[in-house]
Amino acid sequence: MSDCLIIGGGVIGITTARAMAMAGAKVTLLDQRACGKESSWAGGGIISPLYPWLYSDLVNELSRASQGVYAHLCAELFENTGIDPEYIRCGLLMMDKYNTPEAQQWMGKHSLDFQVHDKGALFKDIAQVRNPRLLKALKADILKLGVQVVEQAKVNGLMTEKGATLGAITENKKYYADNTIVCSGAWSSSLLDIKDTIYPIKGQMIVIKAKAGAVKHIILDQGRYIIPRKDGRLLIGSTMENVGFDRSIQTQVGADLLAFAVNRFPQLKNTNIEHHWAGFRPASSVDVIVGKHPQLANLYINAGHFRNGLNMAPESANRIKKLLC
Ligand SMILES: Cc1cc2nc3c(=O)[nH]c(=O)nc-3n(C[C@H](O)[C@H](O)[C@H](O)COP(=O)(O)OP(=O)(O)OC[C@H]3O[C@@H](n4cnc5c(N)ncnc54)[C@H](O)[C@@H]3O)c2cc1C
Repeated sequence: MSDCLIIGGGVIGITTARAMAMAGAKVTLLDQRACGKESSWAGGGIISPLYPWLYSDLVNELSRASQGVYAHLCAELFENTGIDPEYIRCGLLMMDKYNTPEAQQWMGKHSLDFQVHDKGALFKDIAQVRNPRLLKALKADILKLGVQVVEQAKVNGLMTEKGATLGAITENKKYYADNTIVCSGAWSSSLLDIKDTIYPIKGQMIVIKAKAGAVKHIILDQGRYIIPRKDGRLLIGSTMENVGFDRSIQTQVGADLLAFAVNRFPQLKNTNIEHHWAGFRPASSVDVIVGKHPQLANLYINAGHFRNGLNMAPESANRIKKLLC
């Protein structure tokens, strides 16, 4: 099995590194900061597209296949590392848009299991993970598998010769590999000369502390959601802002997100915001890109997962592994 260089240590890069290492490859993973601290940390961890019929067939295929392995993946990671990614099949209560003709047609075709209640449609099989913990567990696991992880290593460019990729270059080192895989999230376009651009869509989110069990299911309404963690914390998200790599957060946005939750659960009225943050979803001008670079040999792309990178990661990694093996 050949050497493999992975650029980016978010959920996409780490699951790809894991799949390749398990297939017997010698893997090096580079990250410009620390692994798992960008979008994969900032996200909510819902293991499903929010309104699946709004997404391409490819997104839904990658999601469905990933949903099928997530419980096992998290159990395996817990056993291997002692870190619990808190995979919970808590269900998702969709309060709007489930009864449009488009949604009904899509759900009929894909035989999605749901029950209509007075407040909306409950999709009881939809799960969540506590993504910061998932990322910690994934990183610990790939280190055990022998992946060489180099952090604070920003790739400035790829090394190519006669139409083939030889590896990547950081400020102080050249990394040669038989195959290079760009998994650099919202930053991927800076390394790739392709017509489809990948760009950041900022999302702001807040977390509050409520009583464990106060909210049972993920709540989705008007594009916003509440995710109930095991310890009672509630994540409330999120905005969609096309503002480049601007990490600023606005107090008013936090207040609006809290008001969204209080409106649905009035008992949350006097709750304080514990944290408020922003992350950069890797949006793509076409669709998620999982495959070979269109021109350069030995170069692969696993990027552009937009709002669904956590839920599409296992199958995206599996597809890259199949291409390379
Ligand atoms: C508010 C919010 C809520 C979300 N909720 C969900 C959800 O509920 N479910 C879901 O599935 N998805 C969700 N997402 C989307 C999900 O987080 C992303 O799709 C996913 O994390 C993308 O993973 P990634 O590995 O491609 O990117 P990232 O996690 O951003 O990782 C990319 C990595 O590449 C590194 N990198 C970049 N450039 C270089 C370089 N030149 N050299 C070296 N390293 C480099 C970065 O440092 C980073 O660590 C959400 C996102 C946000 C912001």
